[in-house]
Amino acid sequence: DTTTTPTPGNAIRDMDARHHLHPFSDTRALNQRGARVIARAEGVYVWDADDNQLIDGMAGLWCVNIGYGRQELIDAAVGQMQTLPYYNTFFQSTHAPVTRLAKAIAGITPGDLDRVFFANSGSEAIDTVIRMVRHYWTLKGKPYRKLLIARENAYHGSTLAGASLGGMGHMHRQCDPMLPGIHRIGQPYWYGEADGLSEEEFGLQRARELEEKILEVGPDNVAAFIGEPIQGAGGVIVPPRTYWPEIQRICRKYDVLLVADEVICGFGRTGQWFGCQTFDFQPDILSMAKGLSSGYLPISAVAVGDRIADTLTEHCGDFNHGFTYSGHPAAAAVALENIRLLRDEGVIESVATDTGPYLQSRLRGVIGEHPLCGHIEGIGLIAGLALVKDRQSRTFFDGDVGTVCRDECTAAGLIARACGNRIVLSPPLVISREEIDAMVDRLRIALDRTY
Ligand code: PLP
Repeated sequence: DTTTTPTPGNAIRDMDARHHLHPFSDTRALNQRGARVIARAEGVYVWDADDNQLIDGMAGLWCVNIGYGRQELIDAAVGQMQTLPYYNTFFQSTHAPVTRLAKAIAGITPGDLDRVFFANSGSEAIDTVIRMVRHYWTLKGKPYRKLLIARENAYHGSTLAGASLGGMGHMHRQCDPMLPGIHRIGQPYWYGEADGLSEEEFGLQRARELEEKILEVGPDNVAAFIGEPIQGAGGVIVPPRTYWPEIQRICRKYDVLLVADEVICGFGRTGQWFGCQTFDFQPDILSMAKGLSSGYLPISAVAVGDRIADTLTEHCGDFNHGFTYSGHPAAAAVALENIRLLRDEGVIESVATDTGPYLQSRLRGVIGEHPLCGHIEGIGLIAGLALVKDRQSRTFFDGDVGTVCRDECTAAGLIARACGNRIVLSPPLVISREEIDAMVDRLRIALDRTY
């Protein structure tokens, strides 16, 4: 019973168990064990309520890209709250921070993705995408183009629309029936599913499933294809280089809108502002959240190119969609300052040329030959490690990877996350080489204790 010893952490755990229902948690198991109470944070470190220091190998939930404790972001929020804490962006109103942020996003997104719609979470951005693409095709005189194609093991959020679009069966089972009109193709998971094909061949094969699906359901019925450049919550599945250019070719051929869900990959994670730049494709629509404000305040956005924006604006009538807090001024001010810091401090360049390659090589050097390590994939400051029971036959680890993360990683002073049979890392982008060494060493200790 964790509630008997009177520590600050236990007082919170006790209250939490009585009153707080957690997302994505087994409440009974959580209450028996007691929640991890995080009390403060600085740089890449968090401290729990009992003052244990942990390296946050997950940047919160893949979001604190700029690291914790940045006074500039705090000042931006406070300053904006003093001037204008809230005003809406509905009904022909606007304000300076949201306008400046839209311009800043237009300046960093690739191609002509210059017009930006705001929401509060990644899931809301995804709902926005679905409503926008269906509305777009209706305005184009093709209301029958409604179907969406997504992928197995994708994660696109937890609203009804986001969960329906995602390819995670455990989320679907709890909320059956999901939204209709969604079709799925396989994921580009070379290590687990290639069956002897080279990475290049497998990338093309998986991309061509999109063409087969489009032909199966009828090209005239398909509104859009959506994918994460790298599947994050699916376990950090890095697609073969051949995959995205082929997906783009197929989308163009059948006039299917291509949507990049950049909620995790955006804002420097892969060493460029957006994952589509790293993987060499140009989406028609790009959703973003998390790293947009480094998680300091909730905000998300959907950027679209001229084709969609012009259609929405040239046809008379409202786009009947939006949220009270779309473009919240304080969140927008924080996001703007976050983008400035990422840019002015050269954070993304160092992910591309220094800390990213360093993390990838340290992981392979320190952990690559570990008997539990089947495969490491990653790019920039995101990585997934598939745990195996037998390296030769690629038989996956049959223990609970969640327990390895919760118990062994925590004991070693590291927050890492389990995604299926994989341990994933996605630290703040400001992590130094020394901190990367410490993070990888702690992971190694956790694996040694598990083996
Ligand atoms: N899309 C992707 C690719 C995500 O990884 C996530 C969250 O992890 C979401 C959408 C949903 O974002 P949120 O949790 O902010 O609703």
